Amino acid sequence: MTTHGLQGIGMTSQRTRARMIERLREKGIRSAAVLQAMAAVPRHVFVEEALASRAYEDTALPLGMGQTISQPYIVARMIELLLNGRPGLGKTLEIGAGCGYQAAVLAQLSKDVYAVERIAPLLEKAKANMRVLQQFNVRLKHADGHFGLPEAGPFDSIIVAAAGSAIPPDLLRQLAPGGRMVLPVGGQEQYLCLVEHTPNGFTETRLDPVRFVPLLSGTQ
Ligand code: SAH
Repeated sequence: MTTHGLQGIGMTSQRTRARMIERLREKGIRSAAVLQAMAAVPRHVFVEEALASRAYEDTALPLGMGQTISQPYIVARMIELLLNGRPGLGKTLEIGAGCGYQAAVLAQLSKDVYAVERIAPLLEKAKANMRVLQQFNVRLKHADGHFGLPEAGPFDSIIVAAAGSAIPPDLLRQLAPGGRMVLPVGGQEQYLCLVEHTPNGFTETRLDPVRFVPLLSGTQ
């Protein structure tokens, strides 16, 4: 895999990116802060060179190792749920960094992003992409995200990019009071789940049906 630069031609132009933002708005993304964060990240940097012309379509795209770069709408939707009118995301944990697209979007809304990925070559690619973007507030770690990142927690925001059959208990433990977590839950049938850490405990809300790659155990 090669890393390509920030310079885009034709399809990767500012205008193509503006159309992606317009589509996100049409699909219901309302938060100006989220739309701005989505507009700030050049998605073509994160996709294989051969697919760069499709980087601003609202679809998931292959990123190698059998994984996909998330669909822009889902990234925006989950981050909007996470932000929920707060001024920023606070200290943020992402599980399933892939090659770092969503981490870069989160980094526009948070001072500190910690992102965990279980597949080493993808993590390396994510690190290279952060260097290209000069995005220095994302810390990337090779680990099984089921356990979160206890040494860096608790987190004000947690977002998971792969679906497990239940909410990992370690992630709940690392969610700060007032914190919010958004994650896909399920197997064949999945839905987005919003967890809020309130003074009375954790509340869980079941939201949109979704389709994510599975949350797997161990590292590779
Ligand atoms: N956030 C990425 C999405 C990548 S797809 C983006 O913005 O495009 C989801 C990723 O979750 C895959 O790279 C997969 O390897 C990773 N993953 C699956 N189970 C995991 C686990 N237990 N810990 C960490 N990463 C995991």
